[in-house]
Amino acid sequence: MLDSTEQAIVDTVRDFVDRDVRPVARQLEHDNAYPSALIEQMKQLGMFGLAIPEEFGGAEVSTPCFALVTEELARGWMSLAGAMGGHTVVAKLLLQHGTPEQQRRYLPLMATGELRAAMALTEPDGGSDLQALRTVARRDGDEYVVNGSKTWITNARRAELVALLCKTDPQADPPHRGISVLLMEKVPGFTVSRDLPKLGYKGVESCELSFQDCRVPTTALLGSVEGDGFAQMMRGLEIGRIQVAARATGVARAAFDDAFSYAQQRHSFGKPIWQHQAVGHLLADMATRLTAARQLLLHAARRYDSGSRADLEAGMAKLFCSEAAMTVALDAIRVHGGHGYSTEFDVERYFRDAPLMIVGEGTNEIQRDVITRQLIRRGGLTPDSGY
Ligand SMILES: Cc1cc2nc3c(=O)[nH]c(=O)nc-3n(C[C@H](O)[C@H](O)[C@H](O)COP(=O)(O)OP(=O)(O)OC[C@H]3O[C@@H](n4cnc5c(N)ncnc54)[C@H](O)[C@@H]3O)c2cc1C
Repeated sequence: MLDSTEQAIVDTVRDFVDRDVRPVARQLEHDNAYPSALIEQMKQLGMFGLAIPEEFGGAEVSTPCFALVTEELARGWMSLAGAMGGHTVVAKLLLQHGTPEQQRRYLPLMATGELRAAMALTEPDGGSDLQALRTVARRDGDEYVVNGSKTWITNARRAELVALLCKTDPQADPPHRGISVLLMEKVPGFTVSRDLPKLGYKGVESCELSFQDCRVPTTALLGSVEGDGFAQMMRGLEIGRIQVAARATGVARAAFDDAFSYAQQRHSFGKPIWQHQAVGHLLADMATRLTAARQLLLHAARRYDSGSRADLEAGMAKLFCSEAAMTVALDAIRVHGGHGYSTEFDVERYFRDAPLMIVGEGTNEIQRDVITRQLIRRGGLTPDSGY
């Protein structure tokens, strides 16, 4: 379904993952070490420019291709795919809503990975209720003065550009009309205050950010109209959710592959364990879930490329793929028996990485709300939804 050029890109990433990522991922992860060398290789391979058109120095691919590249990276180590997550959302925000000047300033540097980007939505008081956010950008002449804090912002320490969701009109009713996105560089008053300790998703940093009387020019406003930020970010989250669904599918794929191979090597009662029906059926369920997840992921990716809103499809993919990853990772532990609980095998890592996809980019409870609202708006599952 990909053309030969795009298939070659996915194949190249698959080779990179098998050759350079899988042999070192376990140790790097246990050391919680930032994978500088691998990120450098990803830059050389052009991965940070996969969502950026050629005119800005990138090598833009279709969203199905982007999803399959992300899946491959996550199959090796989910954190590597995570390093591209917020970056890609910000690239799409700039492409779809940025002024020509903003596009020229950031996209060429982002395409090579020289400049990395992060997105900052979540606040200490909550991430689900985004309209209640408290970070405020007050207009002062030709500047905004930003005050507030964000939490769980991935890649924040190494990102030189942060797409900040904030209120330019705290009194707006409804509140989303007062929300804007500011393109924040690391100006005085902008501090990365703490790296948060995590169950998994190690090696890349997720941080608390603080903004104290931070002054940025009004040209930092994404686009040029205040109050468009909520709608801009909702479209941005579609690609974010497709990316998270792809990460989940990659983790599930790794868990299935490891279990499939282990079940053929390990013997009990005089035969390979896959021949015990209980284990064989686990493999059957894992493969079925994984295949369904992959199809839903590609369905959402194709919908995104059609240019129509893809909240429903991206929400379904994110919901299903992440729950599938959790189940498949647990089943992989079952198949591995005691070794599944050992830090000398990779399956325990999949089990620690999988829950992030259930929570991140909007929890699965919120995804269900998004899906329901879209179903009602579209009049159910219609041919328009690919059903
Ligand atoms: C490792 C990691 C990396 C992250 N990276 C980023 C990042 O780069 N940028 C960023 O902006 N954020 C990031 N996040 C934050 C993430 O998006 C939020 O954690 C998530 O959106 C949930 O917000 P919350 O943690 O405040 O939970 P809350 O909003 O407090 O929710 C708590 C619980 O209540 C449920 N809940 C809340 N409201 C409702 C409702 N209306 N209906 C039903 N259930 C509800 C939630 O589903 C959840 O189960 C990251 C999080 C993690 C763990």
